[in-house]
Amino acid sequence: MAEETIFSKIIRKEIPTELLYQDDLVTAFRDISPRAPSHILIVPNKLIPTVNDIETEDELAMGRLFTVAKKLAQQEGIADDGYRLIVNCNSHGGQEVYHIHMHLLGGRPLGTLVTG
Ligand code: 5GP
Repeated sequence: MAEETIFSKIIRKEIPTELLYQDDLVTAFRDISPRAPSHILIVPNKLIPTVNDIETEDELAMGRLFTVAKKLAQQEGIADDGYRLIVNCNSHGGQEVYHIHMHLLGGRPLGTLVTG
């Protein structure tokens, strides 16, 4: 069984955090250390540590990350200008929290390359 992270506590509302969205599959909240004017994390409610751990049964939740990202981008007013969605995997991918999360970043030009 994978070890829980702070995100499980946020999902269960054990840590006071403004939730921007929550349903049966995913939860979204602002990143504590924003790297852009809009920096939101969208996470599956189920603890899946990394992309390497995704199972076929998780496909609905993984798809929901995208539909919620789209909704939140519209809500933030960044949909038309554009934004970036990032999912880091393991140490070389720069993953720090081992509970899959999609970063939604926008509100300023982000450049054309993803680099270290
Ligand atoms: P990673 O590098 O794993 O893809 O991204 C983890 C993200 O989670 C980082 O951007 C970090 O700022 C954010 N983060 C870490 N701990 C917390 C927390 O307790 N609350 C919130 N809202 N964000 C967090």
